[in-house]
Amino acid sequence: MNFPDRVVICEVGPRDGLQNEKVVLTVPQKVELIERSVEAGAKVIEIGSFVHPKAVPQMADTDEVARLMKRADGVEYRALVMNLRGLERAEAAGIRKAKFTVSASLSHSLSNHNKTPEQAVRDFADCAEYAAGHGIELSGAVSTAFGCPFEGRVPLDQVMNVIARFREIGVRELSLSDTTGMANPAQVFEYTVKVRKEFPDMTWVLHFHNTRGMGLANVVAGMAAGIDRYDACFAGLGGCPFAPGATGNIATEDLTHMCHEMGIRTGYDLDAVIAVGRTVQQFVGHDTVSFILKAGKCTDIIAANK
Ligand code: ZN
Repeated sequence: MNFPDRVVICEVGPRDGLQNEKVVLTVPQKVELIERSVEAGAKVIEIGSFVHPKAVPQMADTDEVARLMKRADGVEYRALVMNLRGLERAEAAGIRKAKFTVSASLSHSLSNHNKTPEQAVRDFADCAEYAAGHGIELSGAVSTAFGCPFEGRVPLDQVMNVIARFREIGVRELSLSDTTGMANPAQVFEYTVKVRKEFPDMTWVLHFHNTRGMGLANVVAGMAAGIDRYDACFAGLGGCPFAPGATGNIATEDLTHMCHEMGIRTGYDLDAVIAVGRTVQQFVGHDTVSFILKAGKCTDIIAANK
């Protein structure tokens, strides 16, 4: 199999991970996790979301986090927004990259946003225009891109349709998200090969949850299809709204470890990533599903047995 020599691992823990936690971290704790993730090698980090504080109380202080965190050169600090109001807040907090999400599944989109996926993308046109006029980069995310809790497998045509709508409003970077952990490696390979062929000018990111243990296998399938950008979350936080108690995102330390074992560069210092993961577990006050935090690295056991 052919794999990329190097992949970009985008740290989504401060947003996708922490928004699912019962405990709301303090601003200094969030700032520490962001700064230490960047020191560990993160070149792209999702620092939070600018949504209504009542909708996601865990993210209510993203403005303050963005203002207080030290910023390193060459690092993309992105945030999730839902509408123009959120985009303006992000801009005011000095964020230059915003991401917005649309569900590929009709039932999921209707139940969450009360609109069709096509309408949801069209409603972001004002954001896209605002972003273009203010030098803010935009990224789109297609959620439930592989499987939907209401509809089951989401047909590729449906996903392609949402991608085409995103293209129409000027978005050139898209992440395909397996929000519910229903994607499998064969499907990931098929979908990513086809979307890359159909939309060759797009930058692709894959976002997997390990809900059913297929997360890292899906990354390998994506890499075999030539995708070199992956979201991951420190300590593997981040549940699934449709499966309470379910495993979260693939863990940054697990993905980094796997890549390094495969000879694929990530730019991360694995020991520093592991240290961040341990701090995350302390902050949230519970164990998380991270294989490396439990078992240690392959090289640890070799050293221990010498
Ligand atoms: Zn997610």
